[in-house]
Parts: sequence; structure tokens; C-alpha cells
Amino acid sequence: MNKKILVVDDSRLELRILIDILSNEGYVVFACTNGYDALDLANRILPDVILLNIVMPGLDGFEVCKLLKKSDNTRDIPVIMITSKTGSKDIKKALELEAFDYLKKPIDEVELFARINSALRFKSYQDKLKEMAMKDGLTGLYNHSLLIELFQKEFKNQEKKNRSIGFAMLDIDFYKKVNDSYGHISGDIILKKISSIITSTVGASKTVGRYGGEEFGVVFTDMCLDDIKKICENIRRNVEEHEFIIGDKSIKITISIGISYKALDENMSWNEMIEKADEALYRAKNSGRNKVEITFRHGL
Ligand code: GH3
Ligand code: MG
Ligand code: MG
Repeated sequence: MNKKILVVDDSRLELRILIDILSNEGYVVFACTNGYDALDLANRILPDVILLNIVMPGLDGFEVCKLLKKSDNTRDIPVIMITSKTGSKDIKKALELEAFDYLKKPIDEVELFARINSALRFKSYQDKLKEMAMKDGLTGLYNHSLLIELFQKEFKNQEKKNRSIGFAMLDIDFYKKVNDSYGHISGDIILKKISSIITSTVGASKTVGRYGGEEFGVVFTDMCLDDIKKICENIRRNVEEHEFIIGDKSIKITISIGISYKALDENMSWNEMIEKADEALYRAKNSGRNKVEITFRHGL
């Protein structure tokens, strides 16, 4: 995908020149002539790099850079400051404000692309590291800590809006036997396939994570209990009906699911919801596995 560059300069002529040079090179260019629009655009389009002129009326480039670095949304976008001043004080100040790099006017094209490429390389390493820190390496789902963090966030949001929330804990049945019979590598392949059955059944908008070894968590917002139950039944059935191919064998696997549900009038914390989902899962396991059980209004 073509990289997005935001260019901010109060001089329309210089802005035009930069837009032409960058567009010709294949970048998707966004431009504006003042600091306020720059902050607004940066938040909306989340560019890969920002070229930011220092001297501008109103909010100058230093102020804009400071505000970009303060916001969670825009903090990690590399900013290249453009300065007409040759003084090293400005360069020092820009770098202290966490600008990634700087360019001096008049801008040399070769230097411009070299610096943009270096900023893009940095951003792509940074994005990869961020993704590695968030995602479980085997399944590509959110890892345990991010699943909990996102669940807490959605829980608070739903409380604020006075809306319901559900949490499902899913656990593969007799998974140890799968590992013992077919080996860990085959176990991993099955784990990945089950992850993809869960995500494709619940849809892309749901928060799905790997809670632990062969356990998964799904967060359901703005849904009634019946609909959550239906989706979980679909996951259970889709896993049950899937033929897992290991070498020349086709094997069947099942999954048990525990759901907890917090209705509008109910008082429950997010960690109580996880406990209740766990209790329901335990009941599903004890009553024969390959089942969906629910805890709603204290133990029902
Ligand atoms: P139950 O039906 O009661 O859930 O039984 P189970 O055998 O599924 O549960 P148990 O907790 O006894 O075993 C879970 C196994 O999952 C043990 C562990 O070796 C395996 N496991 C956990 N993470 C991974 C993984 O990433 N890859 C593989 N291959 N196995 C894993
Ligand atoms: Mg299990
Ligand atoms: Mg387990």
C-alpha cells in the first residue's frame, strides 16, 4: 500500500512543490497550511510520516510536534521538521521535542527522499515490534495481556453508556490427548485452525484473544444474551463439524464454552465476569464437554 505523507507549510508555493515531488514518487500526499489543521489531519489519516515546517503563524512547528507527541494516537508517527533557519538551536529543539529528523530549506530532493525512507523504515520496525507485543505469535490473536486490557476498556465503555456486555471463555476438549497422539506440531496446527474458526464465526469486529494455552476469550458488546448464545453455539458446531487433517488422517475435535453476561441492571466487575465465564466453562466440561454453558444472574 502506498505510504501516506502529511506535509505542513504555511507557504502555499513551497507546499505545492513538495506535493508534486512526493506525488510523482507515488506517495499519497495530504497537505495543510497551519498547525491546527495539521493536528486534525494527523489524527484522522494517521500518516506514515509528517513533514512539518517550523516557522508558521499561530501554532508553529515546535508546538505542533509537542502536541503530536503528547497524543497516544499520533505519538509514534515520525516527524521530519523543515527549517529555513540554519541555526543549530532550532535543530536541537526539534530533536528534543522528539522530532525524528530535520531538513533544511531549500530542500534537496535526494536528501528529502533519503530522510523520508529512513523515517519509513523506522516506522515499519516500530509497527512490527508493536504488533509482536500485542499479538500471540502462534495464532495471531491478541495475547493474554492485551485481551484483558481491551476487555477492561470495553467493560468501562459499556458501563458508561449503560449497556450490557458478555464474555466467553473457550477451551479445547481433551487437547492434551491430541498432543500425546499426534505430537505438538500437529497440536499447534489444530490450535491455529480453531483460532481461525472462532474469529471467522464471531466476525472481525469482536475482540478475540488467546487467554492461555488452549483457551480463548471473546468479548461481546451491545448484544443480548440469546444472540451471544447463538454465536457461541455456532463456534461449538463449526469446530465439531470441521475435519482436521493431520497427515493422512482426519480427526474430530470439540470445544467447550462458558459465557458470563452482565445485564444493564447488574452489578459485576470485569474480573468477576471472567470468573463466572470460567465457572460456566467448568460446568460445560463436567457435564460432558462439547457444550455451551452460561452464568447469568449469579449461577444460573
Ligand atoms: P479438558 O477437556 O479438560 O480441557 O482437557 P485438556 O486435555 O484439553 O486440558 P489440559 O489442561 O489437561 O491440557 C491442555 C494442554 O494444552 C496441555 C498443554 O501441553 C497443551 N498446550 C498448551 N499450549 C499449547 C500450544 O501452544 N501448543 C500445543 N501443541 N499444546 C499446547
Ligand atoms: Mg482443554
Ligand atoms: Mg485448558
